[in-house]
Amino acid sequence: MNAHADILPCRQAVRDIQRKGDTIGLVPTMGALHEGHLSLIRTAKERCKHVAVTIFVNPTQFAPTDDFTAYPRPLQSDLDACDQAGVDLVFTPTVETMYPSGVRTTVHVSGLTDVLCGPRRPGHFDGVATVVAKLFQILPADAAFFGEKDYQQLAVIRQMVRDLNIPIEIVGCPTVRERGGLALSSRNAYLSPAQHNQASCLSRALFRAANRIRAGKRNIAMIVDGVREVITAAGPAQIEYIEIVDAQTLEPLTIIDRPARICLAVRIGTCRLIDNIAVDAPGPSS
Ligand code: AMP
Repeated sequence: MNAHADILPCRQAVRDIQRKGDTIGLVPTMGALHEGHLSLIRTAKERCKHVAVTIFVNPTQFAPTDDFTAYPRPLQSDLDACDQAGVDLVFTPTVETMYPSGVRTTVHVSGLTDVLCGPRRPGHFDGVATVVAKLFQILPADAAFFGEKDYQQLAVIRQMVRDLNIPIEIVGCPTVRERGGLALSSRNAYLSPAQHNQASCLSRALFRAANRIRAGKRNIAMIVDGVREVITAAGPAQIEYIEIVDAQTLEPLTIIDRPARICLAVRIGTCRLIDNIAVDAPGPSS
């Protein structure tokens, strides 16, 4: 496995692979790798001959009050995990490499970033879109793999790639969960054991809501109230939002008449957790 902190050897490695007629898949991460990241790497390996991973805690997607400095950075164990997973190339740039002084360009995807986490995390998705656009220039892979866990991020990146004619296929991968249902996240490390236990209420609430919709319930306000009740009953939590949105446009729905997604963001202690679930077409109404 080759690991580089510089741009040129990474771009060259990708070009060399493609010149041979081989494919390469890209898995962008902020490190602190867990089974969710590893599942993306496995999918990339199934779909492409070679796999590149980027490990970069991107400062521009954190607000000043966010956890940028505290964010976990276990670089050596991440490199070991990549090596064991059969990754060919790892890009571990510094902040100065990604944002040398004088940088003036940002990528803004409108509309999709005005809902859900967008207004609650001003600038976050501009930071994400910009760094991913840069990574796509540095590692011009054939396909890039992103988790549905960050559903809005996936939608924003799909839109950006379409709008900017970036010739990289975007592949969404299912959320990997703990046995108790909690979606794996590097930020789960901030939860105390009791909060960790409590946090399984998020997936429990989402799965229950999806089942109710599948069984024919269509009243969105009642479904959302049901999600809120499960979360509130589990312990102290600050609910930022619970919304049912169009699976493509992320526009809030008033009636479930198309593929939809239930999305939520909840703070437990200081830890902000997000999760979402697909909503199947409802059965007969009740
Ligand atoms: P992060 O390191 O948190 O920026 O995540 C890097 C990539 O891993 C993103 O595409 C995430 O959506 C994805 N990811 C994070 N957690 C999970 C999970 N539990 N299941 C699947 N993908 C995930």
